[in-house]
Amino acid sequence: MHTYDAIVVGARCAGSPTAMLLGRKGHKVLLVDKARFPSDTISTHLIHPPGVAALERWGLLERVVATGCPAIHTYLFDFGPLTVSGSPGTAGTPVAYAPRRTVLDKILLDAASEAGVEVREGFTVTDVLRDDGGVIGIRGHGKGCPSVMERARVVIGADGLNSRVARAVAPKEYHAKPRLLAGYYSYWRGLPMEGRFETYIRPSRGFAAWPTNDDLTLLIVALPFAEFGANKKDIEGAYLKALELAPAFAARVRASRREADFLGTAVPNFFRRPFGPGWALVGDAGYNKDFITGLGISDAFRDAELCANAIHETFCAGRTFDVAMGDYQATRDGHALPMYEFTTALATLEPPPPTLQRLLQAMRGNQEAMDGFARVNAGVTSPAEFFSEENVGRITGSAAK
Ligand SMILES: Cc1cc2nc3c(=O)[nH]c(=O)nc-3n(C[C@H](O)[C@H](O)[C@H](O)COP(=O)(O)OP(=O)(O)OC[C@H]3O[C@@H](n4cnc5c(N)ncnc54)[C@H](O)[C@@H]3O)c2cc1C
Repeated sequence: MHTYDAIVVGARCAGSPTAMLLGRKGHKVLLVDKARFPSDTISTHLIHPPGVAALERWGLLERVVATGCPAIHTYLFDFGPLTVSGSPGTAGTPVAYAPRRTVLDKILLDAASEAGVEVREGFTVTDVLRDDGGVIGIRGHGKGCPSVMERARVVIGADGLNSRVARAVAPKEYHAKPRLLAGYYSYWRGLPMEGRFETYIRPSRGFAAWPTNDDLTLLIVALPFAEFGANKKDIEGAYLKALELAPAFAARVRASRREADFLGTAVPNFFRRPFGPGWALVGDAGYNKDFITGLGISDAFRDAELCANAIHETFCAGRTFDVAMGDYQATRDGHALPMYEFTTALATLEPPPPTLQRLLQAMRGNQEAMDGFARVNAGVTSPAEFFSEENVGRITGSAAK
């Protein structure tokens, strides 16, 4: 006997859209989160054009734009000796946005609620309930309240990288890689970006800045994970020293003012099997990678759509759970794996290999090629397509003429 069709644990980028999409299809959904909203979380928040397109499909982009969050039309990659600058989007979705998580996550949660989803904030899930057939519900409690049990046909873990649901169901993990870099970020006033995301790639260091709400600029500095511990003692010193590797940019930062404390972390890289009897995983709970490419939010949106569609098909279109969810896993992995390899290679913070350096050189003055490079980093074009022999030949060939 279940009360809900689905219980979604975690109500941010993966959980709220999953619940919203199931709610819009008429299913009875409970969405819980131990946090209350609006609230922040440790994450920068660049949403590449594919994530922006998802917000538009769901009718939520207008709400994000209305918060005054500026559009980002150009991605600039400064490798020191050379710079590549291109447009990350397509004709349909030409720009990125970077709304604060306090803003974005609340918009997503409200949209779930408007879709008829029952929302419980400040509710912590402590375990899943099972019978012989698999997961049948959750156990949890509101702050200072006694423990309760809720039952559903499926429990969806959208509870992030340290997912309680994943811990309970112990899914198979694959393609796992250790933490590769650590990042520290803060917000600056008086550091105008004019619609640009700028990233600076230097030996063993990388940093990036882009505009967000309230006329602030987010600036994150990354260093190898092996140096994380040593730099914890003087985060500000390590952060500012890294910026000196790009003197003109460092001067711009010196002319601005920091408006927030530093936040920092490092994350592991893995895929988890995202389903089993009575349960599913979306977002970071099911697949996590380093934040250097800023893909987690857009990927969480993609997973939410794939997972909600698959679950709807098992409820209404006569597909078996294993077949529909197997398709979800295969589609997710098919999209994610090439960018996962690209991301984890970048996150080593090693200098670009000679072949890439030659390609970058050849791109100089070739706007189409630079747009293509920006689109790879934005998750719009697959690395396999951009770095194919044919495309590389085209770029280097035209440079030679
Ligand atoms: C430093 C850093 C920078 C990043 N920068 C970017 C970026 O620029 N662009 C980008 O796209 N991605 C970025 N990411 C990745 C992005 O933050 C994640 O991919 C994204 O937040 C995943 O969303 P999610 O909903 O899966 O998980 P989360 O956002 O982690 O949400 C999980 C939710 O589950 C709730 N929860 C957890 N356990 C329980 C429980 N037991 N009971 C109830 N609730 C629970 C939590 O309270 C939380 O609200 C960055 C990540 C980091 C760490």
